[in-house]
Amino acid sequence: MKRHFDVAVIGAGSAGSVVASRLSEDTACRVVLIEAGGWPADPNIADPSKWPALQNRDYDWAYRTVPQPFTAGRVHEWPRGRIVGGSSCLHAMAHVRGHPDDFDAWAEAGGPGWSFKALLPAFIRSETFRAFRNASHGTDGPLSVHLPDDEVSPLVRDFMAAGETLGVPRLTDHNSGPLSGVSPNSLTIDKGRRVSVADAYLSADVLARPNLTVLTDCQVDHLQLEGMRAARLACVVNGEEIKIEADRFVLCAGAIGSPMLLMRSGIGPRAALKEAGIECRIDRPEIGSNLQDHLLGLGNVYSAKRPVPPSRLQHSESLMYLNSDDHSSNDGSPDIVVACVVAPSAAPGLEAPPYGSAYTLLFGVTHPLSRGRLLPRSGDRHLPPIIDPRYLEAEADRATFRKAFDAARAIGHHPALAAWRAEEVLPGPATRTPAEIDSFIATAASTHHHPCGTCRMGSDPSSVVDPDLTLRGLDNLSVVDASIIPRIPSGPINAAVVAIAEHWCRQFEG
Ligand code: FAD
Repeated sequence: MKRHFDVAVIGAGSAGSVVASRLSEDTACRVVLIEAGGWPADPNIADPSKWPALQNRDYDWAYRTVPQPFTAGRVHEWPRGRIVGGSSCLHAMAHVRGHPDDFDAWAEAGGPGWSFKALLPAFIRSETFRAFRNASHGTDGPLSVHLPDDEVSPLVRDFMAAGETLGVPRLTDHNSGPLSGVSPNSLTIDKGRRVSVADAYLSADVLARPNLTVLTDCQVDHLQLEGMRAARLACVVNGEEIKIEADRFVLCAGAIGSPMLLMRSGIGPRAALKEAGIECRIDRPEIGSNLQDHLLGLGNVYSAKRPVPPSRLQHSESLMYLNSDDHSSNDGSPDIVVACVVAPSAAPGLEAPPYGSAYTLLFGVTHPLSRGRLLPRSGDRHLPPIIDPRYLEAEADRATFRKAFDAARAIGHHPALAAWRAEEVLPGPATRTPAEIDSFIATAASTHHHPCGTCRMGSDPSSVVDPDLTLRGLDNLSVVDASIIPRIPSGPINAAVVAIAEHWCRQFEG
């Protein structure tokens, strides 16, 4: 079977759902959206409280890192959605745009078109905040964003009060004005149900468009090239190979899927491709490098002196962004974060009390300096990539992580939480010196699930994609997803990924 389209969008995750939806608004544009996974069928996906249990199911790519020397030699599990909606079907639903200054690095990389000011219309266009009617929040975009009020746990209210007493600014939300401060999390939840980006952008009306074709359970194996152009996709459906031709290709396969597909197609760092037995067609040394992720310490756990009521949301109900040198300052982009989870949350290998009898303060670094990379094992799509995030390799990351832990502990021991706190269980009172804290962090640090940066956008010739997100070396292929991010923003990145896709699509508006 061979079929021809104007645009082929590869990956129906957060970015791909937006791109396919927006491009198919033009009825003359024949769009095909190709997804390796199927339509969501598991009812647990829609239930916000179930998100931690969705991992390792058959719609999770279930990646693993290589052992990480600075996190006690541990292998880290990296869930990624293999389903229509992609990782937005598995994610924890927090909606945080990031601090405006975070995007200075993007503008430095790709010019003023990537500043926060330039991206703001894309954020606004994507969102509907039901709690606000003002110019800085979206009011009629596809993605429904909920700012909880009554549902916030009493424990979390006391966590926010502890922060306030320590001078941390109390914010209405994390998506307007300063980011440093504490607020309940804005969540992509509507009427108690998860809103994946596919739910938002691929509604029944959109799917009914005659010019939009969605192919599910269809994995793109590789791209076939003709000169300086991508000619077709070699895909596999039910074990059978099909070819899809298009004038333009938009790679939205995510921070792992996009660089891996390019490398399987012979586009990547020559030496690494040779090592994996892949013929190099276009030598692009940076593909797969610049890998960044947020880590969270799981966690500073407390046993409770009274039952902890179950979350009515998604367990992690409030983020507190802080400047580590002055917790009362909300100047500039924060460097650490503390989150309150109304459940025991401990990294594999650490023991926490049972559910209902404990709570957790998570802590992390917003702008890690450590950079990792992805490498192919071979050209065989069945073999997972070598994922080496080089967590905590930079000494500065370890030092800032210690400050984040100290902040969590200061809040955890605050009198405002006295009605809840029985005792600190993890790491426990014996952990005091910087060396002891470092060693706890090494065992507790776990992914916050924000890998990005593996097809870096920039104006410089060694960047993977140019500021228009066109792959350098192939003028009819764009990468539009988390992999183009030059530097990770402060917060969870889904809102930024959606904004990248919205921003990129604007150029095609008539
Ligand atoms: P994805 O959404 O991962 O989409 C990529 C799609 O491409 C997938 O559907 C995949 O199956 C498909 N694909 C890949 N390769 C191929 C191929 N060869 N052929 C066909 N299809 C292919 N972010 C937040 O902002 N807030 C949170 O609370 C949050 N929590 C998270 C919790 C978890 C457990 C996880 C996994 C992520 C979380 N994130 C969160 C991160 C956020 O979900 C991702 O950053 C975002 O969804 C990435 O979007 P993307 O479009 O780049 O990739």
